[in-house]
Amino acid sequence: MKFQESLKNNMEHKTEKEKLFEYIDSKKREIVEIRRHLHMRPELSFKEFETAEYICKFYEKYKNGEIEWLRHPVGQNGIAVKIKGGSKKAGKKSGTLAIRGDFDALPVKEETNLPYSSTNPEAMHACGHDAHTAILLETADALINIKKELCGDVVIIHQYAEETPPGGAKAMIEDGVLENVDAIIGGHVWAQHETGEISAHPGMAMAGRAYFKAVITGKGGHGSQPQECIDPILAASHFVVAAQSIASRNLSPLEPAVVTFGRFEGLGSFNVIPNSVVLEGDVRSCSEKTGKFIEKRFKEILSGISGAHGCSFELSYNNDYPPVINHGRFAEFAEEFVRGNLGLGLKMRQSEITMGSEDFAYYQQKIPGLYVFFGAKPKSGFFPHHHPKFDIDENCLIGCVKFFAGFAADFLKGEKHGI
Ligand code: MN
Repeated sequence: MKFQESLKNNMEHKTEKEKLFEYIDSKKREIVEIRRHLHMRPELSFKEFETAEYICKFYEKYKNGEIEWLRHPVGQNGIAVKIKGGSKKAGKKSGTLAIRGDFDALPVKEETNLPYSSTNPEAMHACGHDAHTAILLETADALINIKKELCGDVVIIHQYAEETPPGGAKAMIEDGVLENVDAIIGGHVWAQHETGEISAHPGMAMAGRAYFKAVITGKGGHGSQPQECIDPILAASHFVVAAQSIASRNLSPLEPAVVTFGRFEGLGSFNVIPNSVVLEGDVRSCSEKTGKFIEKRFKEILSGISGAHGCSFELSYNNDYPPVINHGRFAEFAEEFVRGNLGLGLKMRQSEITMGSEDFAYYQQKIPGLYVFFGAKPKSGFFPHHHPKFDIDENCLIGCVKFFAGFAADFLKGEKHGI
């Protein structure tokens, strides 16, 4: 009897999920249309007003009670809606899962020549956040469609300004977007990986980041009389070289870190020693502790070398996004989901750690979270993210929706799965 009952449950369960995936398949055209609509209308971080309006309009078709709007806007331009599951087990508090997607674009001039290229000469969706929004909208739609069967609640987080610190995540969290949320999942389309391939790295997955700007000031003068000057170019050159010892000499070889100088500006002339040099750059590290340590060494070396040359300096050093740290059990659950739904044609593997950064990390400082990469390699080959010819394989989109929606439905059925 028991066996028959569980068999029956299993069959019903399967039918429910089949229904969900069939429904998502019916959105194949619509999801591409949404992505292309957004691709043509990219907006820079903190200026995504029309995109936010478009997202709000999408939700207008749902009746009261089908969704619940969270405070609006969340943060500056964010949007969040709650889908309340109807199948709560009596006497048991069901969990709440948040799903997050970002929607800002980059200051890149598009060179893809696609018929749906950017119409904004100042911006391009060169990181795929147009795809993230299309995926998240269709995920929300699919979950609303099965909300009666959902065993818990889902909060859909449309986040603005991922690309530019301080980012949108922090302000949205301060505005309460994670209230009563137990866990969060997010994802990024990834042009280097094959379509259908999903990957995540358990634990430390993406680096934390810092930005710095240093001005080293000496005393300018005639190039033929260095004895009368204090040469800031020489001091800054010593500093750039010495700062490379932080990663190579002060940190363990097993601790990845990057100290990059992207700007070295000391505009004198062939016979003019300039008064000052401006340095700007980027630091990446794999833990907040390492980030703090690099900052300390950076200041010590800058101060020591400037002092030794008789120069003064000004420094602004800003630790912005923390590292993305994935919950190990959460990553396992994602793998179990993919293995349990082979019909979706998805594959899951462990991804490499990347020194890129993401403000998804702020959510993970509050609650367990998982950030995955969705393979999206165009058949004609790929250009890197942020490149003017960046593009994705749109065939990946439906698989991403199935992953998010199916994952949410399964996740909410369990006892939080040890997360
Ligand atoms: Mn991105």
